[in-house]
Amino acid sequence: MERRHGAYGVLRKGKPGKRRRQRVCAWCKDEERPVQTSDLCGSCYRFKLNLGKADAALRQARSAGATKDRIREFEWKLFYRKRLVELAKLEGDSYGDVDTKEIDGLWLELEFRRLTKRLFKKEIFVGHSNAFDWDFTLAQRRTIFGYLARMQRIFLRRHRAAFARRTAELSSGWQSML
Ligand SMILES: [Zn+2]
Repeated sequence: MERRHGAYGVLRKGKPGKRRRQRVCAWCKDEERPVQTSDLCGSCYRFKLNLGKADAALRQARSAGATKDRIREFEWKLFYRKRLVELAKLEGDSYGDVDTKEIDGLWLELEFRRLTKRLFKKEIFVGHSNAFDWDFTLAQRRTIFGYLARMQRIFLRRHRAAFARRTAELSSGWQSML
């Protein structure tokens, strides 16, 4: 039986290029989450369904001649659902496809700083980018980044709803973005 050595496979035996890439979710690109429907993991698929429902509810409210306030509520819900989808895709852009990212020392330093700031309100590893470049190979930097990415994903998911709400509230004229 094959032993798993982490999500990013660089510690597995065999040539890196020969590794068979598993299917990952088209949005969040999380190798830990199995693809279920429409190329999406269960979580992203739910976001997609909820977005569709919010869209349908708004259309229905408009065609049924609902009050302005009621329509505004539905518009808000649709905007919020869109933000959730955007955040899932953003997570994929930031932390997916680790095997193809050219992770250098600076990138690793910034990721360490971002993570420690989020978790401990403290930036550590400041000024270590050269050390990351000198002490680790690209494959090793990718492995380290992969572990940081997994921690970031946990943090982002825990706070995703709050992020979506806050960014929606901060966006003035959010209705024009629908
Ligand atoms: Zn996903």
